[in-house]
Amino acid sequence: MALIVHKYGGTSMGSPERIRNVARRVAKWHHAGHQMVVVPSAMSGETNRLLGLAKELAPHGSGNAHDRELDMLAATGEQASSALLALALQAEGLAAVSFTGWQVPIRTNSAHTKARIESIDDARVRAELDAGKVVIVTGFQGIDPNSNITTLGRGGSDTSAVAVAAALKAAECMIFTDVDGVYTTDPRVVPEARRLLRISFEEMLEMASLGSKVLQIRSVEFAGKYKVPLRVLSSFTPPDIDLVLEAASGTLITFEEDEDMERAVVSGIAFNRDEAKLSVLGVPDTPGIAYQILGAVAEANVEVDVILQNSGRDGKTDFSFTVQQGDYQKTLDLLTKVVAPKLGAEEVTGDPRICKVSIVGIGMRSHVGVASRMFKCLSDEAINIQMISTSEIKTSVVIDEKYMELAVRALHREFDLDQPADTISQ
Ligand code: ADP
Ligand code: ASP
Ligand code: MG
Repeated sequence: MALIVHKYGGTSMGSPERIRNVARRVAKWHHAGHQMVVVPSAMSGETNRLLGLAKELAPHGSGNAHDRELDMLAATGEQASSALLALALQAEGLAAVSFTGWQVPIRTNSAHTKARIESIDDARVRAELDAGKVVIVTGFQGIDPNSNITTLGRGGSDTSAVAVAAALKAAECMIFTDVDGVYTTDPRVVPEARRLLRISFEEMLEMASLGSKVLQIRSVEFAGKYKVPLRVLSSFTPPDIDLVLEAASGTLITFEEDEDMERAVVSGIAFNRDEAKLSVLGVPDTPGIAYQILGAVAEANVEVDVILQNSGRDGKTDFSFTVQQGDYQKTLDLLTKVVAPKLGAEEVTGDPRICKVSIVGIGMRSHVGVASRMFKCLSDEAINIQMISTSEIKTSVVIDEKYMELAVRALHREFDLDQPADTISQ
C-alpha cells in the first residue's frame, strides 16, 4: 500500500461526466489499497471566467488590495471542483472529504496572485487518510500569515500537487492531463511531436521555464528539491484501464542521468508567445548603463528575460530586453517618460509581436555546434534572429511572432525529433 497523489487539470475536471470519470479512476486506485490524495484544478474555463468578471468591474485595477480580491475570487474555482469531486466519490460509495488550502493549511507568503508555498501541515490530511477516506485538496491556493487567501499563479495546481506529495512523502505524484505525457514539443503546434517515456528533471525545468505549460515551473522545482517521483499522464483513457499499465504510462521525470542511454542532443523544443521586446537606443556607452535601465525596471516589479547590449559606437550604444506581454505597456511608459530623458537616450522602441523559441537538451553539454545548427536551420527558413540567449543545456532565440510555428516545426525536424521513438533515446 502506498500514498499516492493524483492531480487533475481543468479539462480533466471539465464536466460532470469527466468528474465522474476522475472519481472512478481514483476509486480504482483506492480499491487497490492505496491511500489517495487528489488535487483538482477548477473546471476548464472557470478561472478565466472569474478573472474576466473581475476585469469587467475593475478594468484598471492593480495593487495589493485589488490582487487580494482576485485571489478570494479565483480560489473559488478549485473549491467548487473539489467539492464536486468529493460528492462524485461519495456517489461511488467511497468516504471522501475535501479541504481548501486554508483548511489544510497550506501556508504561503503574501504575494497575491503569485504566492509561494512555505509549509504544509499534514496532520489533518493524514488523520482523514488513516480513517480510510480519500482526501481532496484544492489546487492553486493557500493562506498567508495574515489569514488572507492566496493563489499560486496560473497553472498553480501542479505546484499544489507536488508540494502536497512532498509534505506527505508520497510514493508518487501523478499529473493527469489532456495529453498522455510530455512531448518533444507542444503536440498542438507540431502534430509529429512524440511522447517522451522519460525526461530528466533538468530538462523538464528548462522546458517549463521556457514556456511549455504542461507543468508549472514551480512544480518542477519542488519535485527537484524534495525528490518527488513525478509522472505526467492522460486522464482521457478509460477510467477502469488496468492499474499496472496506467502506473507505467505517460512520462516519468527522472532525477538520475541514465548513462546507458544514448542521448539525443536536443530533447525538446519550447516556445513562449508571452514576451515583448523593448529597446533604448543611443544611450551613452558608460559604466552603469545596464544598471540604470534595468534597475528602474526591476523597481517597477517587472521581470526581465533576454537581455542584449550592442557594442558601443561613437560613445553611444543600444540596449534591448524582453518582458512578459502583460508588463509591456507599463515598461514602455517607464522607459519613455522616466529612463530615457534621465539618460539622454535618443529613442525608445518596442515590439510586442515577438516570441522566444528554445531548444533544450542535456546532450548540448557534450556536443559542440548545436547552437550554430539551430541558427543555420532558422536562416534556411529565412527567419531573422533578433536576440540570442544560451545556457549549458538550452539555446533561445527571439524572433518575429509570425514565424513561431514555422521555426518550431523546422527545428523539430532538424534535431531528428520527428523520428520514431526507438531511433532516438528517451
Ligand atoms: P491542465 O489543465 O491539465 O493543467 P494544461 O493545459 O495546463 O493542462 O497543460 C497541458 C497542455 O500543455 C497540453 O494540452 C499541451 O497543449 C501543452 N503543452 C505544451 N508543451 C507541451 C509538451 N512539451 N508536451 C506536452 N504538452 C505540452
Ligand atoms: N485554475 C488555475 C488556472 O487556471 C490553476 C490550474 O489550473 O492549475 O490557472
Ligand atoms: Mg496546467
